[in-house]
Amino acid sequence: MRKNRIVIKVGSAILVENQKVNLVRIEALAQLISELSATYEVILVSSGAVASGFTALELDKKILANKQALAAIGQPLLMQIYAKALQPYGILSAQVLFSGYDLDSRKRTQNARNTMEVLLKNKVLPIINENDVTTTGELMFLGFGDNDQLSAYVTHFFDASLLAILSDIDGYYEENPKENPNAKIRKIVTEISQAELQAEATPNNAFATGGIVTKLKAAQFLLENGREMFLSSGKDLNILKDFLLHSKHSKGTLFTARSLS
Ligand code: GLU
Repeated sequence: MRKNRIVIKVGSAILVENQKVNLVRIEALAQLISELSATYEVILVSSGAVASGFTALELDKKILANKQALAAIGQPLLMQIYAKALQPYGILSAQVLFSGYDLDSRKRTQNARNTMEVLLKNKVLPIINENDVTTTGELMFLGFGDNDQLSAYVTHFFDASLLAILSDIDGYYEENPKENPNAKIRKIVTEISQAELQAEATPNNAFATGGIVTKLKAAQFLLENGREMFLSSGKDLNILKDFLLHSKHSKGTLFTARSLS
């Protein structure tokens, strides 16, 4: 395992707000990536293609082909914004789109690995998304389901030690924060139960609809494969920065199999 290789996943809700791409947030992300790159090899998994597409053309997202068209429109817009935000730091970026097949076949996975190694060796930032035009996670059987799971696979297959999820969910709470505003974030999670992983099956469970379950599934996959996951707010990047660069864990949840005293 490459100890200094990390994957950062950023969700649509962080990148696009009120039907506008949040440029300030992407600039902050670019700055964080530049600061991290002195210590880490960074791979970025970015959602937001469909949401960015919708800022340019309002197609009805409930229709699958429209959603795929929006991804095709939004993905290059997003890549342009990333390229511009990274330019002051002299970081070149590369677009990498995966479908379920790509990490499901030994040959294709090896091809992807070889490409990734060349990019990382040359200090290029790979920006990964699902290839939404041909596979749309939740509807196609070979899709990844969502980018939380895709980023967990990326972390495993490209041998990174940690996946950092930047989300509008700022940690894994002891209780549902929507029901108990005083609920506390669990700082360290070493095990996830089947019941927690299946919470999605309960439609009234706000935890599941809040998107925590896909994150727990990603974490479970990583724990099983000896890797770690850190879940924190994408609206305050200092939490992740402190954790990664200053070993300071103030907020956010670390999923780890390591026994920490
Ligand atoms: N690939 C989708 C997009 O970029 C997002 C999927 C997800 O957020 O899980 O719009």
